[in-house]
Amino acid sequence: MSFPYEAPVSQSLFDRASAVTPGGVNSPVRAFRAVGGTPRFMVSGAGPYLTDADGREYVDLVCSWGPMILGHSHPEVIAAVQEAVARGTSFGTPGAGEVELAEEIVARVEPVERVRLVSSGTEATMSAIRLARGFTGRPKVIKFAGCYHGHVDALLAAAGSGVATFGLPDTPGVTGAQAGDTIVLPYNDLEAVRAAFAAHPGEIACVITEASPGNMGVVPPLPGFNQGLKDLCSADGALFISDEVMTGFRVSKAGWYGIDGVRPDLMTFGKVMGGGFPAAAFGGRADVMAHLAPAGPVYQAGTLSGNPIATAAGVAQLRLLDDAAYEKVDAVSAEVRGLVTAALAKEGVAHRVQAAGNMFTVFFTDAEVTDYEGAKAQEAFRFTAFFHSMLSQGVYLPPSAFESWFVSTAHDTAAVERIAAALPAAARAAAAATA
Ligand code: PLP
Repeated sequence: MSFPYEAPVSQSLFDRASAVTPGGVNSPVRAFRAVGGTPRFMVSGAGPYLTDADGREYVDLVCSWGPMILGHSHPEVIAAVQEAVARGTSFGTPGAGEVELAEEIVARVEPVERVRLVSSGTEATMSAIRLARGFTGRPKVIKFAGCYHGHVDALLAAAGSGVATFGLPDTPGVTGAQAGDTIVLPYNDLEAVRAAFAAHPGEIACVITEASPGNMGVVPPLPGFNQGLKDLCSADGALFISDEVMTGFRVSKAGWYGIDGVRPDLMTFGKVMGGGFPAAAFGGRADVMAHLAPAGPVYQAGTLSGNPIATAAGVAQLRLLDDAAYEKVDAVSAEVRGLVTAALAKEGVAHRVQAAGNMFTVFFTDAEVTDYEGAKAQEAFRFTAFFHSMLSQGVYLPPSAFESWFVSTAHDTAAVERIAAALPAAARAAAAATA
């Protein structure tokens, strides 16, 4: 397709980046490969807006993939960071900031009795899996197709369709041995989980699931699914790990747990809790966490874990996230969802807006999406046309049809009006798109 306008400075940065970095980016989806065109190199963010290297301003509906729930450059978060930076950037010792962040997490998420800080969501899920295996003395892990838990070798396994099967590595570099203990099942299919437990009695260390998936687009658990997972784990002596890297502190004060109340044995966090800095965590039952070094034998460590600047940003952000903040984000999300639906319906475009709290995805299909196969069945080519129309009108959407959209407390009436103004043309572009 042709792209409505050029972005010469971004393009020249992308050319330079491509000469020194594989694919020109440090995380694949940023390269715009799913939608084509020039990835925008951003230079600053303020409230609900991003400004790119060509000087164009966008209403941001990605929010750094979730963390920027207060908008960009929130003055109190920036002040906390500046204050922390002035005291030094890393000490490699314990510090008060990490205690405060851990206390903040434990206070908000009741199943988290103990928590360990790390630097990325990938580290959090990797460490939680190791701990589950160390605690149970069992090798196997159940995950679900379409759920992303970071680029942990064992969790990149995603097998074929439909039936319980051993994972095959789906990226070169992950060996059969690393993926062979991973069982990949269709999401929202409790029968498949029951069958896997029956086939491998006493072998399954844990089930890991996104608390409410956002990485195949937003596909919430069907009623009873998370509770069913928890019950099957408890009956077998396996651990139930709820990955709240995306939903944690975003969809409520206590994340998805605050919405469905299903009590995991272990949980993982990232994104919002770092206030835009690399901070993440895993935590849960005190008796399980007691197996972690130095209290117990399961090793886990990090030079920059609990970094003073990241923890200062995270504490400042979490303390600002009171009930009123979540009400605001939920309200903006509902408003934007309503506007998108109205615009697409007016043009007769088949679509379905699926939400989990304030996270949402616009699927270009009529059917309810309950698993990865359903997500892949959408008319993604319509999203591509929709995306580029929105981008050309100054609205920055996730550059893929399989991602959640994110809003913030900073998305005010003016920002929503800009989105509303862009939607009719984007809906027409989606309607006119061909595969
Ligand atoms: N788990 C979930 C649910 C995620 O959405 C992500 C990232 O998007 C991760 C884990 C990995 O986190 P990170 O990118 O910080 O390694």
